[in-house]
Amino acid sequence: MARYRDAVCRLCRREGAKLFLKGDRCFKPSCAIEKRGTNPPGQHGAARRKVLGGYGEQLREKQKVKRIYFILEKQFRNYFEKARRQKGVTGENLLFMLERRLDNVVYRSGFSTSRRQSRQLVNHGHVTVNGKKVNIPSFQVKSGDVVAIKPNSQKNAHVDAAWQTAGGRGRPQWLSIDGKDLSVVVSGLPNRQDIDANINEQLIVELYSK
Ligand code: SF4
Repeated sequence: MARYRDAVCRLCRREGAKLFLKGDRCFKPSCAIEKRGTNPPGQHGAARRKVLGGYGEQLREKQKVKRIYFILEKQFRNYFEKARRQKGVTGENLLFMLERRLDNVVYRSGFSTSRRQSRQLVNHGHVTVNGKKVNIPSFQVKSGDVVAIKPNSQKNAHVDAAWQTAGGRGRPQWLSIDGKDLSVVVSGLPNRQDIDANINEQLIVELYSK
C-alpha cells in the first residue's frame, strides 16, 4: 500500500492544527506548530493562508481527518460509502469506524504515542486481539474484544515508555485497562464526545454528497 513519506509536521502546518503525528514531540515546545505557528509550510506560507468557504473548507476538513488517521483517499472514501449505508448519522458513523480501527485502538489505549507508531506495531505482529495475533491495521474491534501487546513484545522500550505516559494523553471511556499489563478491554463503543471536538464531520458529508 502507498504511504506518505514526507516530513509529517508539514501536514499539521498545512492544516493549521496539531494532528499529533509525531508522538511525544507533539506535546513539547519543539513541536513545529508551537515553534513556527499555523501558517502553511514553505517560504511564502503565510501568504498562502486564505479565508476558506464552501468547497475549500470541506476539502481541508476531509484532508485533516484523513491525515489524523493516516489514511489514503481510496480507503477513506470506502469508509464514507460504508458509513452512508449504515443507520444513523453518516458523519458520526464515519468517525466511529475510524476510531474502531485496530491501529487507532492501539494508540488510544496508550501502547504507542502516535497512530503511525501503532500502525507499525500492528504491521510487525506485536498486537493480539482476544489472544490471537492480528497484523491488519484496519481490523475493526468490537465491544468485548481484548487488545494486548504480545507477551514477548512487552519489553519493547517504545511500548513501555508510551504505556508509562499514557495517563497524561488520556484514554477514552470505551477502553478500560484489563488489570493485566499492556492489555485493554473494549468495554463499549466510541461516542461522539470521545472523538476530537475539532473535527466537523458534516463538512466531509457535504463534500462527498456533491
Ligand atoms: Fe504536528 Fe506533532 Fe509535528 Fe507538532 S510535532 S507539528 S503536532 S506532528
